[in-house]
Amino acid sequence: MAEPKKRLTSARSGARRSHLAHKAKKLTECPKCKAVVPSHQVCSKCGFYNGNDVMELEKKEQAKAARRKEEEEKTNE
Ligand SMILES: [Zn+2]
Repeated sequence: MAEPKKRLTSARSGARRSHLAHKAKKLTECPKCKAVVPSHQVCSKCGFYNGNDVMELEKKEQAKAARRKEEEEKTNE
C-alpha cells in the first residue's frame, strides 16, 4: 500500500483542518409571515418560498375545513 514519504507536522494538519469547522446556518425572516427561517429553504410556518405557495398549506387547510363541514352536515341529518 502507498505510504506517505514524510510525517505530517501538527502545523500542517492544523492548517488543513482550519476549514473543517461547522458554520452557523444563516437565518432570515419570512417575508410573508415574518417567522425566522433558514435562508434558501421553504418556510415551515406558511409553506411559502420566493413568493410562491410551494407546499399549498392554505389550499390543504381550506380542503380540510370543507371536509369537516360536509361531515358535520352528514351527522346532523
Ligand atoms: Zn412564512
